[in-house]
Order: sequence, then structure tokens, then C-alpha cells
Amino acid sequence: MNINEAKEKLAVLQSRMSAYNHALELIFYDEATAAPKGTAENRGHAIGILSEELYRLSTSEETLEMLEFLDENKEELSDKEKRMVFLLLKDIRQMQKIPMNEYTHYQELLTAAFAAWIPAKENSDFELFRPVLEEIFETNKRFAGYCAPDMAPYDYWLDQYEDGLNMKTCDEFFAALKNRIVPLIEKIKAAGQVDDSCLWGSFPESSQAELSSFLMDTMGIDKDHCILGTTEHPFTTSIGSHFDTRITTHYMEDNFASSMFSVIHESGHALYDMSSDDSLAYTVLDGGVSMGIHESQSRFYENLLGRSRTFTDFLLPKVKELFGDENPKLAAATPEEFYKAVNKVEPSLIRTEADEVTYCLHVMVRYEIEKRAMAGELEVKDFPAEWNRLYKEYLGVDVPDDKHGVLQDSHWSGGSIGYFPSYALGSAYGAQFLKKMQEEIDTDACLAKGDFSRINEWNKEKIWKFGRFYKPDEVLERVLEEPFSPDVYADYLEKKYSEIYGL
Ligand code: ZN
Repeated sequence: MNINEAKEKLAVLQSRMSAYNHALELIFYDEATAAPKGTAENRGHAIGILSEELYRLSTSEETLEMLEFLDENKEELSDKEKRMVFLLLKDIRQMQKIPMNEYTHYQELLTAAFAAWIPAKENSDFELFRPVLEEIFETNKRFAGYCAPDMAPYDYWLDQYEDGLNMKTCDEFFAALKNRIVPLIEKIKAAGQVDDSCLWGSFPESSQAELSSFLMDTMGIDKDHCILGTTEHPFTTSIGSHFDTRITTHYMEDNFASSMFSVIHESGHALYDMSSDDSLAYTVLDGGVSMGIHESQSRFYENLLGRSRTFTDFLLPKVKELFGDENPKLAAATPEEFYKAVNKVEPSLIRTEADEVTYCLHVMVRYEIEKRAMAGELEVKDFPAEWNRLYKEYLGVDVPDDKHGVLQDSHWSGGSIGYFPSYALGSAYGAQFLKKMQEEIDTDACLAKGDFSRINEWNKEKIWKFGRFYKPDEVLERVLEEPFSPDVYADYLEKKYSEIYGL
């Protein structure tokens, strides 16, 4: 094999892998949006075979030989090719440590788990989900042992979602944040509560869909390459490459703000995914680099921009036009009242509905449970009781049932253990990105006009276009030009909410 042949094979391999991923991602999207509920087994059959083929392709001797040859001849590779080889080899060396039958069985387990989670949540019956969840935690522990025998299993999984992340970093990060957030929440509780009644009423789905479309246009989403579906749990996925991105939302007929902010959040993910440089399509460098950086973008648009005074002022006339006739309180709301309503702080049960201030405490509950379960210190059967205890301790709320408690998120049914901390990290990254951006751009002037072009361009040039080329810590370093600190996020929260609550 000469170097040019190997490079050609590298391109073909990634192109074929993206085709298998295209099929798998489409199946997952269909499962969440449109597939009839009795079809899980049928889908599991196809997923099993496609995953097996993908596994064979990416771990074959021929593949490994080619990658190792390129790795040995690094000096002949471009920087992009070096990074591709690094990422592929890292994945393949790990995957090879997992026996193929176990890998395939795991893919089928996840299909069964998602199918079990839905009725379990609907009926608030943890027992329906417990057996598959036990198997998922056991399998994730076992896989971590195969892939990184010298690492604690939970550290292995944290690192999978955020390169370099471990329990030590998370513990320090959460402790620093908790020290600042808990006293802030106490002060807010002691102050008078803001009135959010203008967000509640009757909001037909068709009008909310119109608002979704308006938001996607405002944010600069290219609808020729991105479409919105509806699901129980909103998410974003790209199909095969950044040329086809799907986002979803969940409409509540009595509250339009829930879907409104979901659409802004998922559109933030979509902008990031869709803006990889075109030369990265059908390679492993296409798309977002890590979950933390991804959440830094989605939560950036949702909260730092979406819930800012200038943007809510911009939105108010539009929501009045769409919903005002049937909702007198909204029709009468002043810009100040609307801004305060969408920023109401109240310890609550559901993470995805949580305000900016209490949000990280929801993440900490999940982090504690995952950490202890992966260390063998907590059994899955005890999750509901532990969940309820931690919600009482951290947020001071009583969990009435598992639907509003331990069964609320879909992540564990998808095998995503170690994902949650990235939401909190992303929120904090985002605050520091905004501080940096505001040195160059008057974001408030842009938002007042509903014009995202300069903001998007900044993100594209600094973060999005590179896809997975830079590691997460390199992205932070390049963009921030100073060390990351959770205090920037805490400062932002203190300033904003002291104004809103008159603290
Ligand atoms: Zn997200």
C-alpha cells in the first residue's frame, strides 16, 4: 500500500460509514417521530444488522492496517487527515475490545429500552423500565472495563461525551457552581415572585407551529436542509452529514413558551451541526465536537440570547399577533412583564422546563446518581427513592410520581450515561463565549432587530466551521483566550436575576 492508496481508502471508509450512519439515524428519527408503536421489534432487526455491518466495516483488519499505516506516516498527512486517523483509530481500538455479539446485543437492548421507557413514563411505572435499565448500566460498566480497564467506568463515559472530562473536574465544577447558585436561589425565594400568567392560556398547535417557523427563519436556519418534527422529548440529529438536519419540539396547548424555547434551543444545535465546512461532509470531522460544546451553543441561543431583554422585546409583538386574541393577559402584557415571565425562577420537577438558575441543580441530581451507580454504590432499583431524596435536598421539591421524577428523561434508555454534566458545562461555556463575543459585537443591537447574522457569523468562524477538527479544550482556548471559569456564568446569573428580582 502506498500513501495515496491509503488516503483514498481513508476517504472511502468514512464515506461508507456515513452511509450506514445515515440509515441508522433515519431509523432513530423515524422511531421518535412517526413509527407506529408496535414496530420496535421490526426496527430492532434492521438496527441489529446495520450496526453489525458498521462494526465489521470499521473494525476489519483491512481498515486497521490502513489506519495504522497512515498513523506511521503522519508526516505525509494534512492536519485534517491526521485528526481523522486519530479519531477513527481511537474509536476502532476501543470497539475492537468489545466482542461483536455483545455490541450487537447492546444495540438491540437500546431499542427495547426506548420501547419500554415510553409506557413506563406514561404510566409512571418504574418497574416496566427497571430490568432494561439495569442491563444498560451493567453493560456500560462492562464496556468501560473492556475499553479502559485502568479508568473508573464513569470517567470513561464522561470522557466519551466530553474529551478529557472526569469526575474530579465535574466535582470541582459543580461545587463551585453550587456555592454561588444556592445562596442566589435563597435570596430569590425570599423576594416577591414574578407573575408569569401571560404565558398560560390557550395556544392552538397550528399557531405554535407558525411561531416555530418564524423562530427558525429569524435564527437563520436554512429550511431546505433542516425540518422540524414533533416528539415527546425534543432533540436534534443530523442524517448522514450536515446537509440534512432534523429538529423536534413538543407542543403544550396551555403554554406556548415551552415549545418556543425548545425550538430556539434545538435550532442552536442545528446551526452548529449545519455549519461544518462543506469539505468535512462524509468524514468523521463533520458535526459538533462534543456534547458540552454542543450544549454551549443550544443553551446560548435559548437562554443567553433567547431570554435576554432585547430579544423578548423583539418577540412580544409576534406572540401577541399569533395568540393575543384568545389570551387577554398576553395581549395586555408589557415588555417588562413578558421578560420577567420567561425568566421566572422556581425550583421545580422537570429539568427541560427548568429556569436558568435552578437548571444546574437538576443536572447535579443526575450526576450524583450516575456516579454512584457506576461505582457500584447505588442499585438501579433504588433510583426512584434516591432521585426523590436528592430533589428534596437540592431543590426543596416533593416528587409526586416517577413520571415527574426518575422517568422524565430519555437519555438512559439510549445508553447515554455521562451525558448530563455536559448540559451544565455547556451553560457555563456559553456565558463565557457571550462575554467574549460582546467585546466585538453589540449583541443587544442585533437582537433588538431580530437579526442573528453577525452573531451566527462569529460562531461559525470561531467554532462551527471546524466541526470536530479541534478538541473541546482547544475550542475553549481558541475562542476564550483565557482560562474557562464557572464564575463567569455565576456572575452572569447573579447580575441578571438580581435585576429581575430586585435583590
Ligand atoms: Zn440540547
